[in-house]
Amino acid sequence: SKLRVGLLFGGRSGEHEVSIVSAGAIAKALTTGENSQKYEVCPFYIQKNGVWQGEEIARKVLESGSAEENTPNTVNLWQFPQKSPQIDLWFPILHGPNGEDGTIQGLLTLMQVPFVGSGVLGSAMGMDKIAMKTAFAQAGLPQVQYQTVTRAQIWSNPCVFPKLCDQIETTLGYPCFVKPANLGSSVGIAKVRSRQELETALDNAATYDRRIIVEAGVVAREVECAVLGNDHPQASVVGEISFNSDFYDYETKYTQGKADLLIPAPLSQTVVEQIQEMSLKAFAAVDAAGLARVDFFYVESTGEILINEINTLPGFTSTSMYPQLWANTGISFPQLVDQLIQLAIERQPTSD
Ligand code: ADP
Ligand code: MG
Ligand code: MG
Repeated sequence: SKLRVGLLFGGRSGEHEVSIVSAGAIAKALTTGENSQKYEVCPFYIQKNGVWQGEEIARKVLESGSAEENTPNTVNLWQFPQKSPQIDLWFPILHGPNGEDGTIQGLLTLMQVPFVGSGVLGSAMGMDKIAMKTAFAQAGLPQVQYQTVTRAQIWSNPCVFPKLCDQIETTLGYPCFVKPANLGSSVGIAKVRSRQELETALDNAATYDRRIIVEAGVVAREVECAVLGNDHPQASVVGEISFNSDFYDYETKYTQGKADLLIPAPLSQTVVEQIQEMSLKAFAAVDAAGLARVDFFYVESTGEILINEINTLPGFTSTSMYPQLWANTGISFPQLVDQLIQLAIERQPTSD
């Protein structure tokens, strides 16, 4: 009999719409060709307000490719819709907070059903830029200079704040990047060039998160590498993102035609191999599993390769970087989805 795959998508984050498109591509890959003999897809749609919707509404959203109007969250927060079928394996394709950060992974772990991707720790580490950078530093991975800041330092004590800004100015300088620790898709991120911009950006970032990170800005090419596997993961070819905007912000990421993917990136074999090796190190450093996309800054003038971040549930639409990198490495989209499911089965906890 076929394996019943629970495809979980939508979710309570700014990447709700991307998740719907990713899920549509995955559903299609599971229900065509050889995969259709092995898998049966049961879609579950998580509304923006956190209510789970079953088969009927989920299929409608998948087909239309766009968000469904919210039913109020008076009932069923995360609970299964009535008459849900038994799920053999979960495939969460949720991006950002409440999906990529270990929360859903905790729920699926409690269910004792295997699921695609990283577990609780790997997901949480990959979402929190401060925890991630600490792990990268421990693994000896080079990164930009940074400083961590808390909301309390920004809001609670008017004497602390000017000193904090002074210190950021002297150690990191301008331009620097102010980021909430736990977001994605460039939401809440600001590139700042002056004291006034710094103050505004810190205040704004504090509205998103209790933990904030400030990084020295670098002038660099942005390159990315895909990782696939569990304990013996593989790294893909390297891709590059090119764009004309000031930085790779939300608008550039999600407006058609504002950014181009270059696969493979025009880089020397030595640089490519270094990036692949660093990607595997980063994957292990945060305890990722199944899949991750590792993003880098390549400073061409000095030859430096700095790790920027790891994304444990990267965009997965048919045109997204992650599946495109594997397609270029020789693994097609349907094969990739199949391998991810097999990796989830391989990882499932042995019963005690
Ligand atoms: P997200 O997780 O939201 O994608 P990133 O840390 O990747 O956040 O930052 C988003 C984008 O901002 C990057 O792709 C890059 O264009 C720019 N950026 C972030 N940090 C730096 C930095 N230290 N120097 C230069 N550009 C940066
Ligand atoms: Mg990210
Ligand atoms: Mg990024």
